[in-house]
Amino acid sequence: MNFWEGIDNELLGKNYTCGYCGCYVGSEKGYEGIYRTSPEKEVEISIYVCPSCGNPTYFDKDNRQYPMSKAGNDVLHINNKDVENLYEEARNSFSVNAFTSVALCCRKLLMNVAVHLGAEENKTFIFYVEWLDKKNYILPNSKKWVNQIRKIGNEATHEICIVSEDDAKKTLIFTEMLLKIVYEFPAMAE
Ligand SMILES: [Zn+2]
Repeated sequence: MNFWEGIDNELLGKNYTCGYCGCYVGSEKGYEGIYRTSPEKEVEISIYVCPSCGNPTYFDKDNRQYPMSKAGNDVLHINNKDVENLYEEARNSFSVNAFTSVALCCRKLLMNVAVHLGAEENKTFIFYVEWLDKKNYILPNSKKWVNQIRKIGNEATHEICIVSEDDAKKTLIFTEMLLKIVYEFPAMAE
């Protein structure tokens, strides 16, 4: 547990999901401050320290949380370091509202997964999505996802469109589902 100097142990209690450890916590420990919006107007801002992992979370003048909780869920038994890192990076990107980065990370991740499973290298993103589909790594009732992901992946790289929060979330959910099918579920059966 971290030690924070001069910490206030009696702040107004606050519940939030910690962006570091993912626990839903209630904290009364941290620091309070003032944000001056104009010479006459002040708003309270705060930093709360997580009682579970000891890391600090900042709440700004609009009560926005930094870092936000990570999107998506942990996936176990990923036996490929690049894939694991890219998934973490995608989740972290989402927590700081970097939605285009989420799409790009997931795109690269999908390509890595396909190559790891035996697909040829140096192909296009679309090739890998279709390869995964052909090899039945995408569930029959999830086929709708393929088109969505293809569209989002294309936009993120060729047209340099900014990816929306909604599209980033969809991409992340699809990626999580795929990782569970490829890595987590088979390992659990062993
Ligand atoms: Zn924590």
